[in-house]
Amino acid sequence: MDFALSDEQQAFYATVVDFAQRAVEPGAGARDREGRFDRTLWDRLGEQGLCGLPIAETYGGSGADAVTTGLALEALAYGGHDAGLLLSLGAHLTIGAKPIELHGTEEQRRRYLPRLCSGEWIGSFGITEPDTGSDTAAITTSARRDGDGWVLNGTKTFITNGPVADLFTVVARTDPQASAGAGMTAFVVERGTPGLAVGARLDKMGNRSSPTSEMVLTDCRVGDEQRLGDEGAALWQVAFECFDWERTVMIASAVGGMARTLDDAVAYAKQRSAFGKPIAQFQAVSHKLADMRIRLETSRLLLRYAAWLKDQGRPHQLEASMAKAHVAECATRSAEDGIQIHGGWGYIKDFPVERAWRDAKLTSLGGGTTEIQKVVISRLLLGEP
Ligand SMILES: Cc1cc2nc3c(=O)[nH]c(=O)nc-3n(C[C@H](O)[C@H](O)[C@H](O)COP(=O)(O)OP(=O)(O)OC[C@H]3O[C@@H](n4cnc5c(N)ncnc54)[C@H](O)[C@@H]3O)c2cc1C
Repeated sequence: MDFALSDEQQAFYATVVDFAQRAVEPGAGARDREGRFDRTLWDRLGEQGLCGLPIAETYGGSGADAVTTGLALEALAYGGHDAGLLLSLGAHLTIGAKPIELHGTEEQRRRYLPRLCSGEWIGSFGITEPDTGSDTAAITTSARRDGDGWVLNGTKTFITNGPVADLFTVVARTDPQASAGAGMTAFVVERGTPGLAVGARLDKMGNRSSPTSEMVLTDCRVGDEQRLGDEGAALWQVAFECFDWERTVMIASAVGGMARTLDDAVAYAKQRSAFGKPIAQFQAVSHKLADMRIRLETSRLLLRYAAWLKDQGRPHQLEASMAKAHVAECATRSAEDGIQIHGGWGYIKDFPVERAWRDAKLTSLGGGTTEIQKVVISRLLLGEP
């Protein structure tokens, strides 16, 4: 058994942290306050080869495995302290580009992946609708056959990158008669396609530098060459795989956020004095730091284990859901402890820890809520379908 990262992975981690400290961290607080996605910064991610990490080199990516991709997201979040940018990048990589590599035709891969990997194009994925999120089988967006193509109608919401995306992967119902979960098909729709409109922008409490919006499809016609994967198989084949990437890789940014919050809390506890001594010397404070460290390491281990299983091609649905639920719980509790250690200053926007909790809270919602992870875990435990 070897828990160590390779020398190459350690050097990569350090390089990405360094890049994030120089390029991402400056202005992160302002981007949060303004709810501003920074396209110039995105382009720098592209120049660093970070927009195509898990995609094969043939298509312009880096060919990184799941562990290494997660490592990069962790490093960026730790060094850059901009959870919104990480949300945009994570979605672009794991639910924007990856499904195209996994399920696209060779023509789709060649057309879209090099542009996505360079950062020239931004990817997105839409399954959630205003009336249904967790119950993915209940979506009502439809795709009706029309000659040699399809006509899409419906509204998606909570689309990460929606306002800035160039490519939207959309899951629609193609067979209204099919049983729950069946009869859904995915399509890749390019920005500018008539009938595709980016709807209302959502004003979020955290991850504010990542733009989120509705996406409205009104008689949006696409050719059959825009179909992604098999007809009728989108839920099991495309969407569930996306959720798996979110749970084993994308969530790594929350681990980087936790590491950063812990470092900030340690530094503050050592320099802030009360009753004549540094607050770190009060056990009530130092035990919070210890709890934060335990949560960080257990989250990191569980997540890397799930990603490692994924890289080995071994079953990991249970580990992915456990990691997702655990990281979410730990990230929010540690952010809250971080604020508590900062006292009143933790509640003031001048201190980055203030946004840590707002950012961390998303971890229990996006990519399947914590309740849904527990549904998955308990079903597997009980041997239920
Ligand atoms: C910032 C952000 C970005 C997002 N990005 C994307 C994106 O890019 N693409 C996309 O398609 N979606 C995206 N989502 C949507 C996200 O995946 C959904 O919000 C999530 O799946 C929950 O769906 P919902 O909001 O409709 O809640 P609901 O499904 O209505 O759930 C409401 C509550 O009921 C609970 N609940 C529901 N069913 C069960 C059950 N069976 N057992 C126990 N409890 C249950 C939930 O856990 C939750 O607490 C994003 C969401 C946010 C907030």
